[in-house]
Amino acid sequence: MTAEWWKLEEGKEREEARKESNRTNRHLLRRKLFLFDQDGTLYLDFKPLPQSREFLAALKERHVQTIFITNNSSRSASVYQERLRDVLDVEASQREIYTSTKATIGWLRSEGMTRAYLVGTPGFMEEMEDAGIEHTAEEPQIIVLAFDTTLTYKKLEEMCYLIQKGVGYVATHPDKVCPTLDGYIPDIGAFIELVRTATGAGPQRILGKPNPDMVRFLLEEFDAKKEDAIIFGDRLYTDIRMGVDSGIATVLMLTGESRIEDIEKYGVAPDLVFKDLGEALELL
Ligand SMILES: [Mg+2]
Repeated sequence: MTAEWWKLEEGKEREEARKESNRTNRHLLRRKLFLFDQDGTLYLDFKPLPQSREFLAALKERHVQTIFITNNSSRSASVYQERLRDVLDVEASQREIYTSTKATIGWLRSEGMTRAYLVGTPGFMEEMEDAGIEHTAEEPQIIVLAFDTTLTYKKLEEMCYLIQKGVGYVATHPDKVCPTLDGYIPDIGAFIELVRTATGAGPQRILGKPNPDMVRFLLEEFDAKKEDAIIFGDRLYTDIRMGVDSGIATVLMLTGESRIEDIEKYGVAPDLVFKDLGEALELL
């Protein structure tokens, strides 16, 4: 049986090869730290995906540590706590929601930075302040651009002046748009292009998925090793890319954006590929 079963033509043979590969790698499901992308992996349009509740309940029974990750730095962890409770009946602590804001705080700390010009929502500003990052336009060490749904022209103006004075900037994540029930809205990637057009400068670093820094800081926070962790996601170029680059185990869920054909296209090979979490539950 080929290890690269996804190169087979769609059909019964490929399906059997996929399932056999999953059985071969099922030992990876015995890891103790499970990271989950949310939209497209656990729920879609605020509705639970098949067997996601049951799978999370089985993990809880086994005392597996679960972490819910998101690139969205416009909302605080409590918004996701509420959503997980409403949609999936899951009680997650603030600590178990890992946002790109937390990854950015991890990076600022690792660089010893405490003074920044922050472009973000009030919730983001509060989280930064709680982490000991002072918001200032007076000689900041860095500019931090978040997904700011309260963005004003004044903030853009200030940010562009600072960049022209030589202050560097980092972005919390790279997503160009954010899906909502009514359609796509501009996310930070669109702001990055706006600032680039105005100043010629881009971010010196982009945290969040797919940057493996996100997993690195998360593992530090939970005092875990990469051999302990496994990530479930529906996007090859973010969730799975980050997992592979971090050296943790990866699970592609076909419940969201990616199709099997995309594995070859993006050149990122997940360890396990499931049609839904019911399949994963069977191998747990
Ligand atoms: Mg997703």
